[in-house]
Amino acid sequence: MSEADCIFCKIVQGKIPSRKVYEDDEMLAFHDINPLAPVHFMIIPKKHVDSLAVVTDEEAPLLGKMMAKAGRLAREQGATDGFRTIVNTGRIGRQDVYHLHIHIIGGPNPLPRMIAKE
Ligand code: AMP
Ligand code: ZN
Repeated sequence: MSEADCIFCKIVQGKIPSRKVYEDDEMLAFHDINPLAPVHFMIIPKKHVDSLAVVTDEEAPLLGKMMAKAGRLAREQGATDGFRTIVNTGRIGRQDVYHLHIHIIGGPNPLPRMIAKE
């Protein structure tokens, strides 16, 4: 996936609208267009990174900053008693959008446990 075709790069550039949760120089958080729970937003780097599979030490500070924002943003969105973070990666991880993103999912009720066993 090249940056020119990347829908999340277009969201970063304002070419596709999003419902913004948070923004700073390095990251953007916005609501998922197809929420799976009452709270469902994503934190993405503004810089295009395909997936967690290709992250290197160079991106470690950026990923750390993104994770460090999760708790506060989740609480602000109403996930006051916990939430789940999901990073779908590659074919096996069923990644649909190849611009790295951390899903933050929660709400008033406990989520289903992890994934179903095969
Ligand atoms: P995945 O790559 O499998 O982790 O999932 C990509 C997620 O991006 C899905 O949950 C979609 O609902 C979400 N998504 C796709 N397009 C948009 C968009 N334009 N705005 C917000 N969320 C989106
Ligand atoms: Zn991108």
